[in-house]
Formats: sequence, structure tokens, C-alpha cells
Amino acid sequence: MNIIYLASEAYPFCKTGGLADVMYALPKQMKKLGHNVSVFLPKYDVIPNKYLYDMKYLDNVELNNEIYNLYKYELDDIIYYFIENRTFYERGHIYGDLDEDVQYANFCEIILKFLIKLNLKFDIVHCNDWQTGVFPYFLKTRYNKLSCKIIYTIHNLQYQGRFNNYSLLNLGYNYPKYSINFMQIGIENSDIVNTVSPSYAKEIKYPYFAEGLEDITNSKNILGILNGIDYEYYNPKYTDIFNYKKEKKKKLLEYFNLPNTNDMIICLISRLVEGKGLDLITARIENILKNDSIKFFVLGSGQKEYEEFFQYLSLKYPDKCKVCIGYCEELSLLMYEGSDLFLMPSRYEPCGLAQMIAMRYGTIPLVREIGGLKDTVTPFNEYTKVGNGFSFTNFNADDMLYTIRYAQKIYYDKKEEWNIIVKNCINTDNSWKRASKKYEKIYMN
Ligand code: ADP
Repeated sequence: MNIIYLASEAYPFCKTGGLADVMYALPKQMKKLGHNVSVFLPKYDVIPNKYLYDMKYLDNVELNNEIYNLYKYELDDIIYYFIENRTFYERGHIYGDLDEDVQYANFCEIILKFLIKLNLKFDIVHCNDWQTGVFPYFLKTRYNKLSCKIIYTIHNLQYQGRFNNYSLLNLGYNYPKYSINFMQIGIENSDIVNTVSPSYAKEIKYPYFAEGLEDITNSKNILGILNGIDYEYYNPKYTDIFNYKKEKKKKLLEYFNLPNTNDMIICLISRLVEGKGLDLITARIENILKNDSIKFFVLGSGQKEYEEFFQYLSLKYPDKCKVCIGYCEELSLLMYEGSDLFLMPSRYEPCGLAQMIAMRYGTIPLVREIGGLKDTVTPFNEYTKVGNGFSFTNFNADDMLYTIRYAQKIYYDKKEEWNIIVKNCINTDNSWKRASKKYEKIYMN
């Protein structure tokens, strides 16, 4: 099969969140399963120079008096196509501008133009998130000579691409509504729609999670396919996991200029946004910092109020709390390797990759039972010894606090049990091998 992926970000070129990880790993797995795979991305100026310099120019097309160039870069036997346009994709950042509707509507239409001009073969187009939502609509209404099956994946229903369609009308997109919702258009016009975990697929039928799209999510069959993580990229090398953790913990403490200690290290690596459950953390983390023998390390960026809160904490508890505001792949790996407990108390979570990465490095996740967190983390049962983490059900700060204290009790007083959970974590199969077979099945059926 010839499979084309469309997305607004993909590792290693540009990444702001889990979508980029998926767009790196899933195409690679499909290639391994014997398919021809290509990925279309905007050619942002924030892509590292080592990739930008080696891209090969292929062709150009015109849309609304703008020229768009197509570049190609091959990595792991996958062809990455990049759409270049100075006006729209060279702004020193990826998201957040007021004309995102035009940026991504044009991205979708230009891809269609190149598919025709270069006569590229494709059986499946796999669209991802709101930025690619209008692709199936344009294909049906303007380029209906092209035939293919369209899969649309909702990675996060909170970001829908809702716009007043004034600017689109100006560009000649005659979408017959007063306002425009890219994600809704994607869901309505695709052949198969899925989201990234079975639990989230069920949750988004309810208004609380559907973010205003409950009529749409209830009118469509939405499959739930759990993401995986790339086991070649996240590949800790150890013969003994416990020695490995000890060494990495020492390194992590050194990084933060702290003396070596056996204190439990709790870490948070996250976009600092409300949906990640940060209000629970801000409400109770000081109880723990004041009273308990722990370290708390934070890496992330996002809403100002959370960034400022964590900076305040690191000043107030310099021996216990260290905070790095920003995005740093290297430090994130060091934290996954060297921490004991990974905190992820999300209010909602379509799938979540961070908890899977933590498990791969023997760092035990403590999560709220929601969406993909519920599907990947089984709370430890002291009697059966089954379970790869700790969890709580309600979005309640005291429940989170209680669960962190329970985890500490096991860590300090029942080391054997703690070690069983660590082993259960590293033995959990969160690989893309499992997930990619499910995608292959829906591509083929
Ligand atoms: P989301 O896509 O909602 O942000 P996921 O858990 O699915 O959440 O994926 C987050 C990914 O981004 C993980 O790979 C995580 O390690 C990474 N990440 C998040 N924040 C940072 C950061 N500040 N620095 C480095 N990596 C980060």
C-alpha cells in the first residue's frame, strides 16, 4: 500500500507534543510492515538546519498569488515532503498566530495540488488533528477526481481549529457556514475516524469531554487505537534495572546540584496547561514539599500562572524542588531515567505518551484514571502483585495527595513491592508494534 501522512509536526523536524512522536513512529512501523510511506509537513524555519540544508527542491505550485515550493528529505526509508512558503511557515515558531486557518487550509490544498502535479501514488491518506481537517473536504469538493481512503485521527479534541470563516471566504473557500471548525470538517468528511485510546473514544461521546462536538462524536463510529512509543528511540541499556536506576538517579541529582540521596524523586514533564491536571498539583504539592522526604523536579512550559508557581516553589524549597521552564529533550530523558515516580494527574488525556516513556525507564507512573492513562496504567495490587503504577479516580487534589503518600509508603517501607512495580513497568508492552498492526488493519479493510 502507498500511505501518506499529513500532520503539522513530526519528530525529529518539529515537535511541540505527542503528535510529533506519533508522526515519527507510526510511519516507521508501516515501512517495516512493507508499505510505501511518505509524510507531508510545512517547512517551518524552526526545523534544525541540518535537515533544512539537506532538503532537495522538487517543484512548485501557485495558490492565491503565492508560490509554494516542495522539498523532499529521506529518513529511515520514509519520504518527508515539506511545503515551503515564507509568508506562512517561516515565523520563528510553529503555532499561535491569528491566521492559522489560512496557514493550514493552504497547507491542505497545496498538498492536493502537488499530489496531482507530481502524479504521486497513494491509496491511503492519514490526516491528523485539526490542522489537516479540511483536506478531506477539499478532496471531495475540489479535487474529486482523486480517489483514496481517508483516515482521520483525533489526537486531542480540545484543539479543534475553530475560526470565523471570514478569512477563508476571502480566499475563496466557500464553506457553507458562518463559522468554521476544522476538526469537525475532518470528522464529517473522512472514511474512518479514530482517536488514540479506547477510553478516550468512549469519553468523547459525553459533553464533558466532547468540547461542544458531542453531536458529531455521537453520530460517527469512532475507533480507539492506543498509541505506542518508539522502542528504538526510547531504548535504555541496562543489565540490571535497579543498578541502572541508582546510577541515573545520582546523575540527575548531580545535574540539579543536589547531593546523592535515597529520597524519592517525583518528576513532572509536561506542557504546563490546565488539562494536564496542574491545578491538583498546585493545590497540594506544598503539603508534600513541607513535610515529606522527597525531591520534586519539573520540566515544562505553558500557562504563565503555572510557570510562575513552579518558579516560586523552587525558590522556596531550593533543596527539594528544581524547575526548568522550557523544552529540552535531553533533560527530559535524564529525568525519565533518574526519577522514581512520574506524576500525570490529567483532567483529560486522549492517550498520553509520557507515562509510557516513564515506564520504559522504570519510573513508576502515578496518574488519574482517565483516557489513555486508564488504558495503560494498572494500579498496583499488593495482594496479586499485578500493576504497573498508582492511580486515583476523581479529579480531586486530596485523592492525588493520598495516592502520592501511598506510593511513598511502598517506596520507603516495602522496597520489594516497589521493585516488583518497576519490573512490571519495564515489562509492559507499549511498543508501536502492537499499535501499528491495528492501523494496518483499518487501512486494509
Ligand atoms: P501531549 O501530547 O498532550 O503534550 P503526551 O504525553 O502525549 O502529551 O506527549 C508529550 C511528549 O512531549 C512526551 O514525549 C514528553 O516527554 C514530551 N515533553 C513534554 N514537555 C516537554 C518538555 N518541556 N521538554 C521535553 N519534552 C517534553
